[in-house]
Amino acid sequence: MIQADLLVHSAAQLLTVASPEGPKRGEEMGELGIIEDGAVAIKDGRIAMVGKTEELQGQVEAEEQIDASGRVVMPGFVDPHTHVVFAGSREGEFEQQIRGATYMEIMARRGGVMNTVRATREATLDELIAQSRKRLDTMLAYGTTTAEVKTGYGLDIENELKMLEAIRILDRTHPMDLVPTFLGARAVPDEYAGRPGEYLDFVIEEMLPRVTKEEWRTIWEKEMPPHRSLFFCDVYCEEGLFTVEEARRLLTAAKDLGLGLKIHADEFSSIGGAALAAELEVTSADHLVCTPPEEIELLAKTDTVAVLLPGTSFGLGRRAYANARAFISAGVPVALATDINPGTCWCESMQFIIALACRQMGMTPAEAISAATINAAHAIELGGEGGSLEVGKKADILILDIPNYSHLAYRFGVNLVKTVIKGGKVVKRSA
Ligand code: ZN
Repeated sequence: MIQADLLVHSAAQLLTVASPEGPKRGEEMGELGIIEDGAVAIKDGRIAMVGKTEELQGQVEAEEQIDASGRVVMPGFVDPHTHVVFAGSREGEFEQQIRGATYMEIMARRGGVMNTVRATREATLDELIAQSRKRLDTMLAYGTTTAEVKTGYGLDIENELKMLEAIRILDRTHPMDLVPTFLGARAVPDEYAGRPGEYLDFVIEEMLPRVTKEEWRTIWEKEMPPHRSLFFCDVYCEEGLFTVEEARRLLTAAKDLGLGLKIHADEFSSIGGAALAAELEVTSADHLVCTPPEEIELLAKTDTVAVLLPGTSFGLGRRAYANARAFISAGVPVALATDINPGTCWCESMQFIIALACRQMGMTPAEAISAATINAAHAIELGGEGGSLEVGKKADILILDIPNYSHLAYRFGVNLVKTVIKGGKVVKRSA
């Protein structure tokens, strides 16, 4: 008999989303590794065994059992692109947008993201943590067990370090695992208005060395979930923000310091951001709403994951969504994320993102689930640690009150997740 801490059994469908060879591409994205009448055994926070209920009940002796009859059991969602640590809110700007102002116009008037920068700079570390923790609680309740979190609302050394510290403390004190990304090149702060090149020099020469200096490295290495890169560096490559040349300069410097690379590219305009992503073989290229076909082909030749953010198009009331079908048929691994942020998409729910991806980007429910779990884990270099129910991986598991996985995409606007298991511990349980 195998001794286990917890056995979840009798699931109508257990989705392993297994993909031992790396992220899912093309038709693999539609394969969820479904086990009917499935069960999963957990020991010491990790998955000890997965299979049919009959098989596991014959071999596993568990301290606790959960009957998942009539329900779907699947891996916890991984949200690989968030700006969830921030202070304040921007509902006034939302009203301006409804009346016709565009996001880039508001930003050009030094509103938009600059309002969040001001609020985040004014907030104490404790205030920043308290405000962000509430959002993480909601994310967890909606089934997100791991998330990437970006800085980028400090835009000076003191406040970027404050954001990193907030992410670190939240990772340690909240059940979710958080993976930090340094996004000092999110925007040009007021004090550098009109001088993006000079600000970028400052980011490369002053900020990057500070955020990666030895004492921080030691802390991250000890406390963060194990992943290949120390942490990530990201840049907003977009008309009116940073050029391809500037993005290349920053990401190359970050790579030299051992950071993993990410890029915000082609959200509103195509200026070659996706081609740069392919050139540098970044871990993920994100947004990709306007990426031309020839740059999709370039990405397909690399291991870069395309992180698509339909919640942002929805949040802005745009008709333009990323062309998920083109990425999937080219063989680019596609992931989904919320992009939760106070300007364009304050949405904690990966369930809603899946529903949107199916309607606005033509993804099938199965593809969207692969994109929100295993491929999302690969987008933050945690594909070996989570994103699927495979033996040895962290036991991050959801039980949804739905009879089959299609309901996850078909129904929207409510929380279908009843039970959340994080690292083998039940952190949410409802009837
Ligand atoms: Zn973003």
